[in-house]
Amino acid sequence: MAIATINPATGTTVETFPELNDAEVEQKIGIACERWRTYRNTGFDERAECMRAAADLFEKEVDVAAQLMSTEMGKTLAAAHDEALKCAHGMRYYADHAAEFLADEPLADASAVGARRALGRYQPLGVVLAVMPWNFPMWQVMRFAAPALMAGNVGLLKHASNVPRCALYLEDVFRRAGFPEGCFQALLISSRKVESILRDPRVVAATLTGSELAGRSVAAICGDEVKHTVMELGGSDPFVVMPSADLDRAVETAVAARVQNNGQSCIAAKRFIVHADVYDAFTERFVSRMRGLKVGDPFDPATEVGPLATEQGRADVEELVDDAIAAGATALCGGRRPDGPGWFYPPTVITGITRDMRVFAEEVFGPVASLYRVADIEEALEIANATSFGLGSNAWTNDETEQERFIADLDAGQVFINGRTTSYPELPFGGVKRSGYGRELAAHGIREFCNLKTIWMG
Ligand code: NDP
Repeated sequence: MAIATINPATGTTVETFPELNDAEVEQKIGIACERWRTYRNTGFDERAECMRAAADLFEKEVDVAAQLMSTEMGKTLAAAHDEALKCAHGMRYYADHAAEFLADEPLADASAVGARRALGRYQPLGVVLAVMPWNFPMWQVMRFAAPALMAGNVGLLKHASNVPRCALYLEDVFRRAGFPEGCFQALLISSRKVESILRDPRVVAATLTGSELAGRSVAAICGDEVKHTVMELGGSDPFVVMPSADLDRAVETAVAARVQNNGQSCIAAKRFIVHADVYDAFTERFVSRMRGLKVGDPFDPATEVGPLATEQGRADVEELVDDAIAAGATALCGGRRPDGPGWFYPPTVITGITRDMRVFAEEVFGPVASLYRVADIEEALEIANATSFGLGSNAWTNDETEQERFIADLDAGQVFINGRTTSYPELPFGGVKRSGYGRELAAHGIREFCNLKTIWMG
């Protein structure tokens, strides 16, 4: 895939970028490694000052950042605006809390281990490679970069090939915020160059957000090199609606949860599992709302759903829907790509899904909802868990026993009761099963790329 800015709303190439050659990559790794030797000894206050300056820049330049995102990957300008502000919030959160999250952990009774003093101390690991996706081109990077830099690591970013302007902007923000040169560098490279970077002894760990295929490749190489990784891969989140749910709120949230980011979010609700008692009422309202959404130019304030980010992405979505319909499923709305330029796909609801259809097992990365009717909570849980993914999950019920049951038995990294799975800097984020491992955000996220050194003093 060429490294290029291609407007998904029109399909036109706006700008192409040359890929870094091996010598340039080598030089950047060298700069990162050299920088880490001094940066690791800076204090939290110094780092926090730069991080807050970066947050100020994001807030001041929110329109610039939003414009870049919408142009490169087609999210609505309003969504891009929110993403830029969320980045600023995440930066301030780690500027405020890093010292507390990484404070020494003394053993209260050191004599139990024969010591005068014993403690755990979090130290930075070094140069970390982040392989990042295009769907939240700034927020995904920030949730790695803000904690990593606050912990005293330095970052190399291999961003998705379709968001080079976002990658360069992020590098520029950190530089202008006062982080020393080499603390955060964007590498404009194809994924073919990732292996040699991971095998470089100066690069000590990696984090990846993206597809299972990319995750498996990076995790395998890092496994071979015995390097720490965090994997944030796909999801096919269930959204269960039980009879006691507030149906109006459930429907509104279901629509937003499915079409957020033009349907391209790992934590978008993708499978709607509805109890038979409320199935018809839910379906009628849900389909009517999905059908009524305004699809169009992401820069038009009236647009609710923009184009898919890439031509291949749309082809993948189309293939999954066509496969289901050919095998007997029904599209209650949408289901056919519109004519004309741009990679648009309409909000779609499909029902009559059987286990042999690809949509039952695979992630649909576009505004397509799969609808299932279930007889009771057992069947709801069975379908919700009948996937190789385990990222987020949503359950709508006002019955406390049912709420506890969903919390206990949904196979997922996150359970949202009467709400929609969302990433917050304040809460840990991650998955189980093939959705990945490790945690981002909160205290857990900043500790991932630290050496928790055990200190024993006699
Ligand atoms: P990819 O996983 O291919 O891309 C994500 C990042 O990984 C990009 O930077 C990409 O670089 C890089 N990459 C891809 N393959 C490798 C590899 N073998 N080794 C190292 N790095 C690699 O996602 P796509 O954009 O192709 O989307 C495909 C599917 O992935 C989606 O339909 C969706 O299911 C899932 N996805 C999930 C995301 C999530 O948030 N969990 C985000 C994005 C995608 P490059 O762009 O140069 O190929």
